[in-house]
Amino acid sequence: MYIGRFAPSPTGPLHIGSLITAVASFLDARSHGGRWQVRIEDVDTPREQPGAADSILRALEDFALYWDGPVLYQNQRLEAYREAIERLRVADHTFACACTRREIADSALPGQEGPIYPGTCRNGFQNGQPARALRVRVDSAPIGFTDRLHGCFEQDLAGEVGDFVIVRADGLMAYQLAVVVDDAAQGITHVVRGSDLLFSTPRQILLQQLLGYATPSYLHVPVAVDATGEKLSKQTYAPGIETRNLGHLACVVLDFLGQNIPPEAEHLPLEQLWTQAARQWNPQRLPQLRQRLAPDIGATSLFR
Ligand code: GLU
Repeated sequence: MYIGRFAPSPTGPLHIGSLITAVASFLDARSHGGRWQVRIEDVDTPREQPGAADSILRALEDFALYWDGPVLYQNQRLEAYREAIERLRVADHTFACACTRREIADSALPGQEGPIYPGTCRNGFQNGQPARALRVRVDSAPIGFTDRLHGCFEQDLAGEVGDFVIVRADGLMAYQLAVVVDDAAQGITHVVRGSDLLFSTPRQILLQQLLGYATPSYLHVPVAVDATGEKLSKQTYAPGIETRNLGHLACVVLDFLGQNIPPEAEHLPLEQLWTQAARQWNPQRLPQLRQRLAPDIGATSLFR
């Protein structure tokens, strides 16, 4: 049984970048006769924008991207995260870290996603220092997986990332932990998401291994970027034009994903358009890119 998901963070309304990921995961699920679930990733409360979760869900409905089952909200899952953390802690896979951001920046090598943690607190820290974050110990064995688009991807977690945070200094759960616990709890078999998360996947696979969870199959689709190579983000939101032709936008998205949809398909009712697109969905036609210039739709955001 195929179970897929779309997991937006409610940091703003749906924009063309997240619509692309939603459509890719939806079509991959439907083309396999699978389920497609939606999870609102609202653990990072300071980045949340009030009303964004509802606005994203409404936008999905407007696009006739109907999900299966109830929407899962991460802010209702804290107990499950705490249990997973406790299991990791008892098995000695974690350690408390007293380093400040500043101390890490001063002593660490730069990595692709911030400083590579130099292991300072691995064996404890001085009495009197307050514990800040909780980290997972990473060992030197590389972690690899086969992405359905990018093929073999291997990462030396220790050398490229270092021991990573699962509970942040502000007490909030880290994305890496929440996503792994929820993918397992929802029985996700296939993850289809943006290639910006390719670099996170080995961390997630390590957590799956430590927690005894299955590893899903991964497909990281190209991410829409602007002319400067920046990922389109909900923060760069410009008000959308309300009278949009959703069928046209759907076809723009399918074109971005390399799918062969005749231009007249944009006049089909959306549900029919998706049925046709799912029938013809072919991940091998996805451009073999980690990022691609976003289609020009006049504004980055689709809905207010
Ligand atoms: N919540 C993440 C985002 O909006 C996606 C997480 C995932 O698909 O694993 O970028």
